[in-house]
Amino acid sequence: MTVLRFAGTTLPDGDVGEFFVADGRITLEAVPDADLVATGWIVPGLVDAHCHLGLDDLGAVSRAEAEQQAIMDRDGGALLIRDAGSPLDTSWMQERPELPRLIRCGRHIARTRRYLRNYAHEVEPGELAATVAREAAAGDGWVKLVGDWISRDVGDLMPSFTAEEFALAIATAHEYGAKVTAHCFGEEVLAGLIDAGIDCIEHGTGLTPELIALMVERGTTLVPTVMQLEKFPEYAAAGEARFPAYASTMRRLHASTRQTLMAAYDAGVPLFAGSDGGGVARHGNLAGEVLALAELGLPAAEALGAASWRARAWLGHNPTLTEGDPADFVVYDADPIRDLRVLQAPRVVVLRGRVVYSR
Ligand SMILES: [Zn+2]
Repeated sequence: MTVLRFAGTTLPDGDVGEFFVADGRITLEAVPDADLVATGWIVPGLVDAHCHLGLDDLGAVSRAEAEQQAIMDRDGGALLIRDAGSPLDTSWMQERPELPRLIRCGRHIARTRRYLRNYAHEVEPGELAATVAREAAAGDGWVKLVGDWISRDVGDLMPSFTAEEFALAIATAHEYGAKVTAHCFGEEVLAGLIDAGIDCIEHGTGLTPELIALMVERGTTLVPTVMQLEKFPEYAAAGEARFPAYASTMRRLHASTRQTLMAAYDAGVPLFAGSDGGGVARHGNLAGEVLALAELGLPAAEALGAASWRARAWLGHNPTLTEGDPADFVVYDADPIRDLRVLQAPRVVVLRGRVVYSR
C-alpha cells in the first residue's frame, strides 16, 4: 500500500506539521518511507454548494461533457458538489472515484414556461407535489424549486406558485426525506417559502430585514452565488424593451445586493459559496465566488470557510482533517487566508486519498 505524506499548515485550525494518507484516509501515525507529495497550506476539500453538472446554455449535455465539467470543478479544488439542478441524470458519477463527491438535487422544478428553456420539469400547480415526490426519490436528499422567474403575462418577476402550493411541495419533499432549496431573486416569494420550512434559499437578493430575521429563527441557509448576481444589469438590459417593469425590478435588486447579503451575514444566516457553474457561469471557478464573497465584505477566513469547512459540516462531511477522516483536501503554495487569490492555483488536489491534480 502506498502511503503519501503531506506537510505544512492545515486550515482551519492552523496546525503545523505533517500527516499521512493511506487507504483513502488521513492518519497521523508516522510511516517512515512515505513519499512527501507536497508542502504548503492544506485546506479541507472545497465545496461548491451551487453548481450544475450536465447542463449548458441549451439544456442537457452529453455524459462526456458532464464529466469534463466535473473535472474542471475538481481541478479548481471543488471536491464536494451540491448540484443545484440538472436535466441530465448524473447518478453514474457516484461510481467514479476520480470525480468529485456529488449531492444531486435532481432536475429543477419550475412553472410552465417560466424558466430557462430545456432546464426544468415545467409543471402546473396540480402536478407540483407529485413532481417533487419523484425528484426527492431520484435525488440525493435535495429538491430544487424555481421560486420566481419572469412572468411574460405580468411583465415582471413573479413567484412560480402560491405560498400554499409551495408549502405543500416542501412538506412533500420532507416526507420523502429530502431537503428543499429554491431559486429566489425577488422578495414576494420568500416569506411563504421560509415560513413553510424551506431548508435553503439560492440567490436571496429579495431578502428584507424581517425575512432575514425569519431565516435566522428557522435556521434557513443561503447560497447567494454572488458572481451570478453581477449579471442582473445584463438581464435588465435584455428585457428592457418588452418588459420594462422586470428590467427595473432587476436593477433595483442589483443595486441593493451588497447591503442585502451583508445584512443576512451580519444577522447570522449561514452563507455558503456556490459558483453557479454550468448555469450561467463557467465550471472550475469556485475560487472566483470565494473572492466575490470577500469583496462583498466577508472576512477572508469566513469566505473560505463558506467554501470549505463550514460547508462541509453543513452537508455532513468532515470539516477538518483528523485521524481516520476521508482524505479530500487541496494544497496551496501560500496561505489563502492572507490572499484568497491563492485559491485560483491549487498545487495538489487529493480526492479519496489519491492525487487527482497537481502542477
Ligand atoms: Zn444555478
